[in-house]
Amino acid sequence: MSKIIILGAGPSGSSCAISLLKAGHEVTIIDRSHFPRNAPGETLHPGIEPLLKELGVSRILENGYFMRHEGIESLKESQSKFIAYNEDEAWKGFQLFRADFDHQLLNEAIGLGAQFIPKCTISKLSTNQGFVESIEVNNTVINVDFIIDATGKRAWLANELGVRFSWKGAQKIAYYGYVKEASFQPENPRIEWDENGWTWIARVKDDLTAWVRLDLDVHRKVDNDWIPTKLKDGKSTGGRKAVDVTWRIAEPCSFANCFLVGDAAFVLDPGASHGVLKAIMSGMMAAHLIEQSKTHSMAKIHEHYNSWMQNQFDHDVTKLRELYEKYEVKTNANNV
Ligand SMILES: Cc1cc2nc3c(=O)[nH]c(=O)nc-3n(C[C@H](O)[C@H](O)[C@H](O)COP(=O)(O)OP(=O)(O)OC[C@H]3O[C@@H](n4cnc5c(N)ncnc54)[C@H](O)[C@@H]3O)c2cc1C
Repeated sequence: MSKIIILGAGPSGSSCAISLLKAGHEVTIIDRSHFPRNAPGETLHPGIEPLLKELGVSRILENGYFMRHEGIESLKESQSKFIAYNEDEAWKGFQLFRADFDHQLLNEAIGLGAQFIPKCTISKLSTNQGFVESIEVNNTVINVDFIIDATGKRAWLANELGVRFSWKGAQKIAYYGYVKEASFQPENPRIEWDENGWTWIARVKDDLTAWVRLDLDVHRKVDNDWIPTKLKDGKSTGGRKAVDVTWRIAEPCSFANCFLVGDAAFVLDPGASHGVLKAIMSGMMAAHLIEQSKTHSMAKIHEHYNSWMQNQFDHDVTKLRELYEKYEVKTNANNV
């Protein structure tokens, strides 16, 4: 049994914790926030269903509480096209409130025996030849066999340890917000393309709709009180927020006794529309490889994890470039 510290209780951290606990490891999850905590990213790809089944927590999705959809409505110059997840429409995605989903996933990990320390950050990290040997939290020193960075875009551990990130393409800022009681309630998530970028609208709960705006000209900022025209008769709630979603990957994503998972390992803009799926996949993979370290060398394990993550990132970067080219989005940089 290994002692594993997971920093961050988002989908990547909780799914990693569940897999590790099932394999008999001792897991402590530390998050700087109280849960439930808000997070953007409400449209979940159907692929999360088999993953949650594999984790043994598919009941989270089975209670009928989260809304289902069969595909995405894509619009360009008033021409609308429905893009189904698959042709026989058997695959359905989810529209949900991330605060609820993330909290339920974390509770599954706690139910399996994870110790959860909320509203806390590491005050001291002790390393020896690149290995994290111990951490200090709440004046207590904890020895560590493995440590997982699941801190999302902050990539706290990666930054503390001086991991380099490889940045791709032009800088991208995603703006997002929520609107209550708008009369426009699309059944399926909807992406509307224009020459400068796209606007995403998705219902997350009855009477609550999320929007995201990404303009490929980073200098064209979205005003604080901006909301999409379609939602104008609703009430904006919580204000608009901005996040740097420039494509980037940690090099490496794993080393010594550290694994970076989810957004801590790589970030793509939300046009990729499967950040949560990738977060859960990488959390599960890191846990699987920690288990494999009983029989395989760490060199092999890191080689496998790093090439698996790099291949996904490269594939998604190519797909996103094709998408922006297809919809003829203008950019202020030579390179999308
Ligand atoms: C505007 C926007 C829209 C998006 N839309 C979608 C979508 O529709 N579908 C989709 O699949 N994905 C979407 N995404 C991407 C998705 O939100 C992320 O890929 C996903 O949340 C990554 O999960 P994670 O577990 O890696 O990180 P997170 O969910 O970000 O969780 C990280 C956790 O780490 C904690 N933390 C941070 N720093 C520390 C620290 N120092 N110590 C301890 N804890 C710390 C945070 O409090 C947080 O709980 C969107 C992203 C954005 C920005």
